[in-house]
Amino acid sequence: MATYAEMQEIFEDIKSDLRYDHELNGCLNCGICTATCPSAHFYDYSPREIVQLLWTENVEQIYDAMQEKIWACAQCMTCAARCPFKNSPGGLVSIMREVAIKHGMQSAKDVLRPFGRVMLKLITTGNQLSPDMIQPDHFPDWGPNIQKVKGNLKTLRKAIPVRTLQTTDTAWETSLKTSVEMYTIWEMTGVLKQLETMDENLYDVIQDFIEEKREEYEESLEEQEQGNG
Ligand code: SF4
Ligand code: SF4
Repeated sequence: MATYAEMQEIFEDIKSDLRYDHELNGCLNCGICTATCPSAHFYDYSPREIVQLLWTENVEQIYDAMQEKIWACAQCMTCAARCPFKNSPGGLVSIMREVAIKHGMQSAKDVLRPFGRVMLKLITTGNQLSPDMIQPDHFPDWGPNIQKVKGNLKTLRKAIPVRTLQTTDTAWETSLKTSVEMYTIWEMTGVLKQLETMDENLYDVIQDFIEEKREEYEESLEEQEQGNG
């Protein structure tokens, strides 16, 4: 449990986000956002409540909402499109989630843990999914619908006019140069720092991988230079 001072600090971080004043403009308490929110139908969650907590600056209840409620939002932004006050409860939730990550809150760690494998795949290959992975063994939760793409994948992809999407072997292959550029973007935007806060082991594995890839890239540049010289 955080101290009151820590809760205040968390709220100050939310409030100082550049998007905050744009996403929160007051509240009529009309409930339109909650009435149209898909998550509110299935979970103990209400975008109106989130807006009210932030508007009244109740730091303890804001902290409490960050333990579970904010993770129920589907980020569909229906609320932002409907609010007569031009609030964006979904946008505010987005800020709160980022602050939860920044502060290494346990709720963020619990929610993000299952995505560790996705993150590893994304960073090490540049893709979350390769076309060849769309097979029944990988997606048992898709049920019989997966049969519609199974087997016909190569034929189906040949029908796609973009050249790089015509084969399942080379489609989505990320070049070394692009990978190294992505690592730099993730570093400079703080994504890797966030990952370190959330999962130190995964961060170490990914850092080792990035270092290897960078060395590989440097070597390929040197070879290229020698070839030109
Ligand atoms: S963005 Fe979140 S809060 Fe807004 S309607 Fe969608 S699920 Fe509900
Ligand atoms: S729709 Fe807007 S004004 Fe109405 S309760 Fe939701 S946030 Fe408040």
